[in-house]
Amino acid sequence: MKDRQGFSYQIYETYFQKAKEAYAAKRMTEAKKMYLNSAQSLLRSAKDTDGEMKEALIRRAEKIVRLADTIPEISFCEISELKNGSDIQITKSEPHMVSQENKEKEEGETNWKRSGSPGVYFDDIAGLQDVKESIRTRVILPRLHPEIYDHFRRKVEGGILLYGPPGTGKTMIAKAIATEIDAEFYSVRCSDIVGKYFGEAEKNIRRLFDTARKSKSSIIFFDEFEALAIKRGGHSTVMNRLVPELLSQMDGFCGTEENHLLILAATNRPWDIDSAFLRPPRLTQKIYVGLPDYEARHYLAEKAFLSVPCQVENISDLIAKATQGCNAADVAAVCGSIKDNAIRYAIENGQSGGMIRAEDVETALQNYHSSVQQSDLDQIRHWEKLQGNG
Ligand code: ADP
Repeated sequence: MKDRQGFSYQIYETYFQKAKEAYAAKRMTEAKKMYLNSAQSLLRSAKDTDGEMKEALIRRAEKIVRLADTIPEISFCEISELKNGSDIQITKSEPHMVSQENKEKEEGETNWKRSGSPGVYFDDIAGLQDVKESIRTRVILPRLHPEIYDHFRRKVEGGILLYGPPGTGKTMIAKAIATEIDAEFYSVRCSDIVGKYFGEAEKNIRRLFDTARKSKSSIIFFDEFEALAIKRGGHSTVMNRLVPELLSQMDGFCGTEENHLLILAATNRPWDIDSAFLRPPRLTQKIYVGLPDYEARHYLAEKAFLSVPCQVENISDLIAKATQGCNAADVAAVCGSIKDNAIRYAIENGQSGGMIRAEDVETALQNYHSSVQQSDLDQIRHWEKLQGNG
C-alpha cells in the first residue's frame, strides 16, 4: 500500500516537472495537460492515505487544477509557430520592410502572460519573513483596508523592485501578491514587448498598460527588468525609443490615486537599470530577496519529501546543512536529484516503488552545484551602498 502511494506521488512529480518545463517553453496545450495529469496522480496518491496527509494532497491537487484552469488551451506563441513555422520570440529588432498583410495578421497579438489569480500563496514561499511582512504592510493591507489608510492620511504609492540573486523566489512573491489581492497578473519579459516591426515595442507597452488599466485590480510584473529598463544612451534604437515610453506609462500608472494597479519588477542585476525607473512615482520601494537560511532550506526539503517513502532519518536536516549558501531553486534541484537517484535504482531493480536510500542522498549531495556566484552577491551589496549614499 505504502509503495503504491509513493509511486503515484513520483508520477505526480514527473508530470508536474514536465508541466513546468512545457509552461516555461510556452507549450501551453502540453503544460495544461501535464498539470491535470499531475493533479490526477496526486488524488490517486491521496486515496491511500488518511488524516492531515490526505487533506494536504487533495488541497495541492485542487491548487494545481485551479492553476491549469488559468492556462489558455493554446498560446499566441504556438499560434504564431503554426502560422509561420518559426519562433516569434525576437529580442533584437530594427525597422524592416514588411507586407501590410503580414503586419495586420500579427497586430493585436500579445506575448505576455495574463492570468487571474496565479495560485501561488505566501505559505508556499520558504523563509523571507521580513520580505513577506514588508509586502503585507506596503501592498496587501492598503488594498484590504483602504478606509483605515485614508483615515490616517497614509498614501502608499509607487511600484516595488524585488532584487537579489536568481532562484530566491522573486517571481513567486509577485505571484503570491496577485493571489492574495485577487488581481489579474500580467507577467512580462523584454522579449514579449520587443517586436519585429518598427514602432511595435512602444505600441506593445501602451497596449499592455491600457489592458491592465481596464481590470478591476491588476499587477504588471516585469521579470528580468534590467533587460527592459536598460540605461539609456546605448546603440539600440529600439530600446532608446522604448525606455521613455515605459517611463511615461509608469508615471501614469504609479502616480494614480487609485490603488487597484500595481507595478512589480524583479532583477538579479539592479545596477543595470536606468536610475530614472527608481525615482518617484515609479519603483519607490526596493526589497532585497536573499538566500534561504537554514530554517527555510529545512522547510523546502521537508515539503519535498512529504509523504515520500524514505529510509534516511533527518533527511531535511542533512539537505539543509549541506546546501548552505545555495538559493531555494538549488535546494529544490537537490531534492529532485535525490528522488531521481531512487527512481533510477527502483527501475533498474525492477521495483514498482521503493524507498529513498542513504546512497541516493549522498550521491546527490556530492554532485550538486550552487548557482549562486559570490561576485553577484558582492555586486548587489556594492549597488546597495551606492543607493544609500546617493
Ligand atoms: P527568482 O524569480 O528569484 O529567480 P523564482 O521565484 O522564479 O526565482 O524561483 C524559481 C523556483 O525556485 C521556484 O519555482 C521554486 O520552485 C523555487 N523557489 C525559489 N525561491 C523559493 C522560495 N523562497 N520558497 C520556495 N520555493 C522557492
